[in-house]
Amino acid sequence: MKPYLLLTPGPLTTTESVKQAMMSDWCTWDADYNEGIVQVIRKELTALASSRPEEYTTVLMQGSGTFSVEAALGSLVRPQDHLLIAANGAYGKRMGSIASYYGIDSHLMKFEETQAVDAQAIDEYLSRNPQTTHVAVVHCETTTGILNPLESIAATVKKHGKILIVDAMSSFGGIPLDMARLGIDALISSANKCVQGVPGFGFVIVRRSRLAQCKGVARSLSLDLYDQWDTMEKGHGKWRFTSPTHVVRAFSRH
Ligand SMILES: *Cc1c(COP(=O)(O)O)cnc(C)c1O
Repeated sequence: MKPYLLLTPGPLTTTESVKQAMMSDWCTWDADYNEGIVQVIRKELTALASSRPEEYTTVLMQGSGTFSVEAALGSLVRPQDHLLIAANGAYGKRMGSIASYYGIDSHLMKFEETQAVDAQAIDEYLSRNPQTTHVAVVHCETTTGILNPLESIAATVKKHGKILIVDAMSSFGGIPLDMARLGIDALISSANKCVQGVPGFGFVIVRRSRLAQCKGVARSLSLDLYDQWDTMEKGHGKWRFTSPTHVVRAFSRH
């Protein structure tokens, strides 16, 4: 899998080899699909995201990118937690909508769309609101193309000892990033942005020790990240429900 320096807002172009990969049939139950493709993708994505891959795991999730953002927020943030969302555009605000749907105790810190998220403001909020447990931010706000300063945001969040969730949908694979070095706990992206696959699934790369504590947290059956992970681990790449086999197969053909 090659990272592309191409920040695309969606599925615009795919290569001939990606299209060709979808020309044969794959079954969600087959070992050559689960062990030969799904497990390999999970391992490669984890290695691409973290210099300490053993501390992380990748969970693939059916649906577009938003489904994976929802799965992450709804499965990692518990009812008694407090989430700070720093938003400077549509995708940051969407995380705010997800938090409201789930009844997550949260605060939406709004910045102008022409402005980057300011780590100083996060620092001040966390000092004043020590009950905060999680911070969520978009890496590249695709709507404007603004790249938020992840280094300083992560350093601030870690200084306060909080859990950091990053929507890196349109930057992952294009902009090098090391979750282990920055201390990022969960990172979300999808098949059809920088990684140049076809749309149909997303993924959450997450610190194993965090996810291990999230059994039963999800308020959605199909978007239960813990349960999806548990099934994939025990079933050696088996998805809980029908997986988008052709899309996954195409994703592996870079
Ligand atoms: C594309 C994108 C999403 C998810 O959008 P979908 O239409 O659900 O794929 C979320 N966040 C960012 C930053 C995005 O670029």
